[in-house]
Amino acid sequence: RVLVLGSLNVDLVTRVERHPRPGETVAGEGLARLAGGKGANQAVAAAAAGGSVTMVGCVGDDAEGDAYRSRLEARGVDVSRLRAVDGTPTGTALVQVSDAGENTIVVVPGANAEPDEREVAAVDDLGPGDVLLLQLEVPRTVVCVAARRAAGRGARVVLNIAPYAALPPDVVALADPLVANEHEMQALAESGSRPASLLVTFGANGATWDGVTRPAVSVDAGDVVDTTGAGDAFCGALAAALAGGADREAAMDAALRAGADAVLREGAQADPYL
Ligand code: ADP
Repeated sequence: RVLVLGSLNVDLVTRVERHPRPGETVAGEGLARLAGGKGANQAVAAAAAGGSVTMVGCVGDDAEGDAYRSRLEARGVDVSRLRAVDGTPTGTALVQVSDAGENTIVVVPGANAEPDEREVAAVDDLGPGDVLLLQLEVPRTVVCVAARRAAGRGARVVLNIAPYAALPPDVVALADPLVANEHEMQALAESGSRPASLLVTFGANGATWDGVTRPAVSVDAGDVVDTTGAGDAFCGALAAALAGGADREAAMDAALRAGADAVLREGAQADPYL
């Protein structure tokens, strides 16, 4: 089993000729509503990889939250631990993409700020052989408490240190593995943190887990559509493989395949439109 404790976001994306200056209004062209949030992205990827997956987190008590719940259910993710919180919106990212290809993004954490001990309690279902998959888009204290509790129960904790934030040394040490991209690895090194098990993804150059390097599945540069969510696809598939009993190399290879697939399509999730 894979239990993902993390974020769910709705990305509202529009295209602008140029970004507005303060006080200014510009017209946006088109409005796409995409499913995102690292937690849900990774849960969907783990389910697609054949894992038995439970998504633990919070949405608003609103239409977006309902839509997201149905979406996950349709993808085979157990949503019984998803909590709808009154008085706060489902997490939302307001994304403006300019003709020059630059994005400006306002993230409204909304319900992603709400996970608390009720979500941590879901970890009590885990034991040896199970995987708790974490990222850092929900409160850090919740992530740390859940990680310690899962490890204490003998479950494996896969911790994607993204977006980067400093973590207590014991949490860094219990992750198996701690998953970082090159930027996050850099920040981690500068912080002096010492993971016991570190898996770094290097985009088109594959990934390295404690000195064992596996090449990426090669993708023609011209076929790369959108690298958003490659890391999430990687983490989800990795967790599913580890929960299925794969060894490190086999799990990395499954993750590298999922990461390569992700760059061939738009959005962070297959069929991303919510
Ligand atoms: P992030 O998306 O977090 O920045 P990376 O860029 O390292 O992380 O990508 C994560 C994984 O996605 C890589 O390890 C690889 O498996 C896959 N990937 C990303 N870019 C490519 C690419 N151009 N060709 C093949 N695989 C890729």
